[in-house]
Amino acid sequence: MRLIDSHGRTINYLRLAVTDRCNMRCFYCMPKEGIVKTVHKAILSYEELLLVAQTAVELGIEKIRVTGGEPLVRAGIVGFLERLSEIPGLRHLVLTTNGMLLTEMASDLYRAGVQRLNVSLDSLEPETFAEITRGGDLKRVLAGLDAAEKAGFPPPKINVVVMRGVNDDEIPALAELSMTRGNTVRFIEYMPAVRDHRWQRYCLPGSEILERIRAHHTLEPLDRVALAGPSRDYRIPGARGNIGIITAVSGHFCSDCNRIRVTSTGKAMGCLFSDERTDLIPSLRPLDRVRLARDLKELVSGKPERHGISQEGYSHQNFTMSHIGG
Ligand code: SAM
Repeated sequence: MRLIDSHGRTINYLRLAVTDRCNMRCFYCMPKEGIVKTVHKAILSYEELLLVAQTAVELGIEKIRVTGGEPLVRAGIVGFLERLSEIPGLRHLVLTTNGMLLTEMASDLYRAGVQRLNVSLDSLEPETFAEITRGGDLKRVLAGLDAAEKAGFPPPKINVVVMRGVNDDEIPALAELSMTRGNTVRFIEYMPAVRDHRWQRYCLPGSEILERIRAHHTLEPLDRVALAGPSRDYRIPGARGNIGIITAVSGHFCSDCNRIRVTSTGKAMGCLFSDERTDLIPSLRPLDRVRLARDLKELVSGKPERHGISQEGYSHQNFTMSHIGG
């Protein structure tokens, strides 16, 4: 079975947020104050998340990324991941984390069947890191990266949100992790995800990120691989890891978009920057699997052709990435 949207794109990737809670407060992701905690009963139970995942895989989803909030703070996450990994037809189970709990949890995650980890790491300077994350501990995240490899994972992919005047001076040092530690390092353009009308001051386009790396290293472009998503990939000759550039704002990767998202409260989204959401709760409570499948199919067929962030007149929305999962 394949899920094809009305623009001819094959949709085979689901990003599933299991919580909106987080043990960090990255300034570009969550507002400093006024975070309204979602009441427990509004959050999908693991049974419900599993039903969404199973239905999506039956329809054609091949890759699931578990995200959040911080997925590792939700109690019982390891058992849930184990059940996800057993879904017949699911080819890739991956997880995005801030790495704070990896030292304790990496072995369990590996045993549960998670195949790959993405770790968010925006700075190698302890103070800058603590400022961006509003209190995160760089040492702990670096220890978590080591623990992941010790547990058997390939070197985690590192996600860096690049922000002018905040961490852009570290672009070459972060890129060098692909040589020194063998991580694939993906540089993500800053996106408008919290209420901040001056968000564009942080934006550094992918082309400039590439220039900054090229000032220090040769970069060989790599061919795109299936299920790779929106990243354009390069390699510093001799490095074990790749360099990826994700131009969510300046680029046009919408034509290759293969993903849908489901939030921890059961809102399904065809585009990160669209206000259109399908509420899956009426199909889950009480359960109606036929309706659930229909919801997901309709979501895919109504997936917008492209987002409008870089278009004139784009009105800044007030959503927090921690609800959606990035
Ligand atoms: N807690 C996990 C983590 O830290 O990776 C998963 C959730 S986090 C919302 C998922 C991804 O969204 C992270 O890689 C994060 O850097 C990215 N993200 C959040 N806000 C962003 C923004 N304003 N612009 C670009 N990426 C953003």
